[in-house]
Amino acid sequence: MKSLSLFALLIAAFASAQDIPSLVNSELPQLVSTYKELHEHPELSHQEKQTSAVLANALRKAGYTVTENVGKYDDGTPAYGVVAVMKNGSGPTLLIRTDMDALPIEEKTGLAYASHVRSKNQAGDDVGVMHACGHDIHVSTMIGVGETLAQLKNQWHGTLILVGQPSEETVDGAGAMLSDSLYARFGRPDYAIALHDDASLEAGNVGVVSGPALAATNSVDVTMRGVGSHGARPEASKDPVVMSAEYIMAIQTIVSRQIPPQAPAVVTVGAIHGGTKRNIIPDEVKMYLTIRSFDDGVQKQILADLKRTAEGIALAGGVPSDRTPIVMVMPESSPVTYNNPELADRLRAVCVRVVGAQNVVPSHSEMVSEDFGLFGLEGHQIPTVMLRLGAVAPEKVAESKASGKPLPPLHSAYFVPLPEPTIRTGVIVMTASALDLMSK
Ligand SMILES: [Zn+2]
Ligand SMILES: [Zn+2]
Repeated sequence: MKSLSLFALLIAAFASAQDIPSLVNSELPQLVSTYKELHEHPELSHQEKQTSAVLANALRKAGYTVTENVGKYDDGTPAYGVVAVMKNGSGPTLLIRTDMDALPIEEKTGLAYASHVRSKNQAGDDVGVMHACGHDIHVSTMIGVGETLAQLKNQWHGTLILVGQPSEETVDGAGAMLSDSLYARFGRPDYAIALHDDASLEAGNVGVVSGPALAATNSVDVTMRGVGSHGARPEASKDPVVMSAEYIMAIQTIVSRQIPPQAPAVVTVGAIHGGTKRNIIPDEVKMYLTIRSFDDGVQKQILADLKRTAEGIALAGGVPSDRTPIVMVMPESSPVTYNNPELADRLRAVCVRVVGAQNVVPSHSEMVSEDFGLFGLEGHQIPTVMLRLGAVAPEKVAESKASGKPLPPLHSAYFVPLPEPTIRTGVIVMTASALDLMSK
């Protein structure tokens, strides 16, 4: 009896190894055509009406209980979040997330299925729209993962929560879904996983980072207030242009002198606006900053340093006390994307098993940011991992290495992911990861 059940187990293990790739192969033509359809019809953050409907319909057809319009933004407007749940007895709860939004970029790839969409952004400007971050790859992959796991229902137990998150590019979509009681309504996951395509990695490859994968980011607006005057009468002014120049140079030493060298961090002033005319000293100058690090504590320290330095420069410049600088942390912020090392090791082993060790590459953390980390809740309570999915044609990677010419990065008008084998690899590794985490 014992040897018989062992035999059955071996058969099941063999069947599962066989099943995923063949199931994915049969779904692939449809997934690629969905991908091209999504690529041609991208939607900006906060506007993912059709994209969310494509995802919702496909998962409903695959047997999931689907809820649409999950999420509420801070200003009270509704979000196009999709939650697809499949309950399969008692067992772990796994959340898998895809994002859905595109970017205000005019596509220049020249692809047959390139986007010609134009749309109004939140400021009301008419802009070209492009899936330049590959979220169309992610949605297509999610549909494949949903379909495959539904067909392999006898190989896992627990609750599967597939999340279509809106507005990743404006980093307010995950927060919108969580504040709409995502976990209270659909269940709190034991793990949350996701993938993101990688514009420098060969299609067919997967990268896994342990620990911090993407940076925490805060957007900060600094208003250096002074006292305006005629340009010929500087003695009557408290010149905010000069104080801003001092400020920008002074904050360059935050990273080099105040943050421990072991903690990488970035302080960038991306925009500065002030004044109207050569001979007028303005009343104020505004600066727009992004700050990044891999540690929420370092973020807090940089914010404090930015405020103290601004106040110090105003004090030194003799600015009256009712005109002290305003340092504001904007809502466009997100925590570090932290890959739980234990879970990352476990999923790396799964990837090696299903795509081969030669296709699982060591990956490194990057200073770009994402709001996926929010699904792990404050203090990384829920283990999360985001995998990197190679998306570039191998010959392009080789060409770039030989010529030294960099490949178009994510958010470039020239970014061309290779749908196959990118989607195929994505579906295989995510499905296998889910089966491993929810195995019977
Ligand atoms: Zn992006
Ligand atoms: Zn992205």
